[in-house]
Amino acid sequence: MMKHFVTQAIEEKKDLIVNVSDQIFDFAEVGFHEFKTADLYEKVLKEEGFQVEMGLAGMPTAFKAAYGEGKPVIGLLAEYDALPELSQIGGCTERKPRPEDPNPDGHGCGHNLLGAGTFAAALAMKKYLEENPGKGTVVLFGCPSEEKGNGKTIMARDGIFDGVDAALTWHPMAVNEAWTVSTLANVSVFFRFKGVTAHAAAAPEQGRSALDAAELMSVGVNYLREHIIPEARIHYAYRDVGGIAPNVVQGRSCVHYFVRAPKSWQVQEIYKRVIDVAEGAAKMTGTEMTYELYAGLSDYIPNKVLTTVMHEYMNEVGAPEYDEDDFAMARKFLLETSTESELEAKKANFRKMFGADKLDEVLEHPIHTSILPLDWHGAPMAGSTDVGDASYVMPTAQLTMATSTLGTASHTWQFTAHGNTPMAHKGMLTAGKVLAMTGIRLFEDQELLAKAREEWMAETGGVYECPIPKEVKPRLNE
Ligand SMILES: [Zn+2]
Repeated sequence: MMKHFVTQAIEEKKDLIVNVSDQIFDFAEVGFHEFKTADLYEKVLKEEGFQVEMGLAGMPTAFKAAYGEGKPVIGLLAEYDALPELSQIGGCTERKPRPEDPNPDGHGCGHNLLGAGTFAAALAMKKYLEENPGKGTVVLFGCPSEEKGNGKTIMARDGIFDGVDAALTWHPMAVNEAWTVSTLANVSVFFRFKGVTAHAAAAPEQGRSALDAAELMSVGVNYLREHIIPEARIHYAYRDVGGIAPNVVQGRSCVHYFVRAPKSWQVQEIYKRVIDVAEGAAKMTGTEMTYELYAGLSDYIPNKVLTTVMHEYMNEVGAPEYDEDDFAMARKFLLETSTESELEAKKANFRKMFGADKLDEVLEHPIHTSILPLDWHGAPMAGSTDVGDASYVMPTAQLTMATSTLGTASHTWQFTAHGNTPMAHKGMLTAGKVLAMTGIRLFEDQELLAKAREEWMAETGGVYECPIPKEVKPRLNE
């Protein structure tokens, strides 16, 4: 019944949804520069009868589009930023940037599809609310700059999600799966040392070396690593070594640190200890230390109640139906764009996923056509996402849907190349259907929503400490 309603609602808007996704594929705008993209969403959402507010939390390309009235308020999280240097002709199995387009960037993470898939869900949920007025409100949140991090973090910090009862989203990927694993929390920080320059031979006693301070900080952090949880990671890069002349005492230096850990509070604890080490290095060298938090993300907390329901709808809707053209394209991507060692690694992975006896069939039809079972025991994903910050301020669930050939990693030209193909469109529309069914269920089932919120409260205590302090503004021009 609901499946039929949602399928019809999305199928009748299919051309619009696909067109939005394909236009954004061509715009390929990187984080905080998604101006044409935001304009397009403003136009189509207004035409579809949503109330649109552009520019949120100091970010011109953030927006929200609402339809309906009253509680519950169900949010959909759209992303739409591209990645640098990944321009690629869609569907082309050779590395070829889009011709006659000076923009070198491309949708290497499929965020054109991500945004348009949530747009699809918003349209179907709006249609439901038109026919069932008073059942609640759907809000599509346009969340900029996921790749550079922080769109949603700043939105969460500045209260943009206040009053939202639950949020749903998805990510284009190579497999169909409800997202059950957490992601790592992190902070990204610049440590700057200020010393005194001097002639290194004639008057070294006058100098205070900022480079020495940076080096001693590295030594200190290396010792610190033994005394933190093994799941944490601390990486660093020298951003400024203070000059190239050995015979001048370096008066300035800058080191860029990342601290990652499974939980946000663990990151904060380790971050404080890294600051202590930096202060120690400054003391040892007679230099001055300042630090600047560049970015930060919270870990993702998958809401089990919502994710379980989402998974049931994934099974009900099923994977998209692919045709021989889709499989032919996928075979080309798999067999012609992988190196020999990559192909061997992919085969090993397919054997593990599907069983050795299925390998020939998978190589013949390398698109994921089933739904993976729910698995709550997976290790946290090694990366980070700002959906984590959303999950701290409201119960959040997401899924992945196959929009690319099995074995294709995101952030590659091959992943970009899938982004406007019929295969990807099918995955996007299917994701939209599952999100809409989950959203409509929440309009209808207050008990389910209450359970989801109970779980979220138990996980977070209803407390969100944003890793980015209030005074740090979004970095719009980087
Ligand atoms: Zn992404």
